[in-house]
Amino acid sequence: MQPFPDDSVELLELVSRYQQKLLTAPPDQLVRPEATESGLPPGDLALPEDGIGADSAVTELSERLLDTAIRSAGPRFFHFVIGGVTPAALAADMLTSTADQNTGMWVSSPIGAHTEVLALRWLRELFGLPVEWAGVITSGATMANFVGLASARRWWGAEHGVDVDVEGLSGLPRIPVLASGHLHSSAVKSLGMLGIGRSSVRFHRNDDGSVDLAGMRADLASLGGAPAIISASAGEVNAGAFDPIEELADLAEEFGAWLHVDGAFGLFAALSERTRHLVAGVERANSVGSDGHKWLNVPYDCGFAFVRHPELLGPIFSNTAAYLPGVDLERPNYGNLGPESSRRARAFAVWATLAAYGRSGYRRMVERHLDLAQHLAERVRAEPSLELLADVPLNIVCFRYHPDDVAEAELDALNTAIAAEVITDGRVHFGSTTYRGMVAFRPAIVNWRTGTADIDLIVQVVLELAQRVREVGP
Ligand SMILES: *Cc1c(COP(=O)(O)O)cnc(C)c1O
Repeated sequence: MQPFPDDSVELLELVSRYQQKLLTAPPDQLVRPEATESGLPPGDLALPEDGIGADSAVTELSERLLDTAIRSAGPRFFHFVIGGVTPAALAADMLTSTADQNTGMWVSSPIGAHTEVLALRWLRELFGLPVEWAGVITSGATMANFVGLASARRWWGAEHGVDVDVEGLSGLPRIPVLASGHLHSSAVKSLGMLGIGRSSVRFHRNDDGSVDLAGMRADLASLGGAPAIISASAGEVNAGAFDPIEELADLAEEFGAWLHVDGAFGLFAALSERTRHLVAGVERANSVGSDGHKWLNVPYDCGFAFVRHPELLGPIFSNTAAYLPGVDLERPNYGNLGPESSRRARAFAVWATLAAYGRSGYRRMVERHLDLAQHLAERVRAEPSLELLADVPLNIVCFRYHPDDVAEAELDALNTAIAAEVITDGRVHFGSTTYRGMVAFRPAIVNWRTGTADIDLIVQVVLELAQRVREVGP
């Protein structure tokens, strides 16, 4: 007898009813339901000896999602940089679990590996990256940065005559990693995971975080020809600022350094004539990382790494055992070209959404978000009690509440209190950051559903809650 009843088909119908409820929620539904935390079951429930059955278990989970889940896939969620899910990507992702392919090896999923080849080719075309570059789909931009920086580490070792993936780093000097103040925390995390060390970063930054090019040049010159890594940011998370990629590529060329570019969401600037200049020069990099679950609007988790030198990935990531296939670039075994061995067919959702909406569909989405960001900036400029803190080159608007009658020394506490209120209020969702020493809001616009009314609600909610906080006191 089978250990479990075979009720998969009935369960899909049950789940589909809940999916419809999640997807057709009214627009004024709270982004953060009141029961977001209070509706969760106790964390110390014991494992049941006898199960309640799949129908009951799935119903319980569905109800809990409806009651408690933050609507981070919806149009009014602006915290961090969290994208939604396009209809095509959602449907493809459901098929991904249903077919349950292991795309670590060509032999276990020719369709999975082949779809990844296609998806990566289309992404390189979308971003204007050379088609000869290697690519691999990762779980996100952190792992994409990891792949790029692992490639840099291998190159750096070879410059010192050492295969660091075989022999390790011991006995070698520290690897110099040069960056502006825009460097994302996930690149620092990757440097730690790679044994390069979190503190190996040599920051060359001006007060606003932008790169101090003269300082970086002097540092490179002081290395006396020794190899180094430049880790550039195409789109940082507080205001959407960009390092000057072309200038950094010039420096890398002049001093023979490796240029890695983190374009988790900023790489999508390449999609519009209006913003393409921000990523000019990215095709001169040695490695580039980006995210799928942000601006591409595919479900978690998905990112992509591109590396100029296809021969580097196999020696870093190959997973060898008598029963496993090797590195084959024609029929790729992606488990040998990236950090994960067995892996989900994330390429299905990437392929489906690009096939469904094409280059022009994504261009329209990006340009709509650019327009919405400028609209929000205009609204902020027009409100006497709001202050725009940075230019808006892309899709993030950095601002704070700053009425005339509140002293500078009190603004941080006031804005922190407003940000906390915004989250519990739940009509829109975004958090605070510290920008140039000031507590600020930084809504990021990346969801394909977001429209003007959602953006206007940001301003309305901040003004209302600021009033309330000032009446009660922070
Ligand atoms: C989000 C982000 C990352 C990390 O991406 P994950 O998808 O969370 O792994 C890296 N760099 C930048 C600039 C980001 O915005």
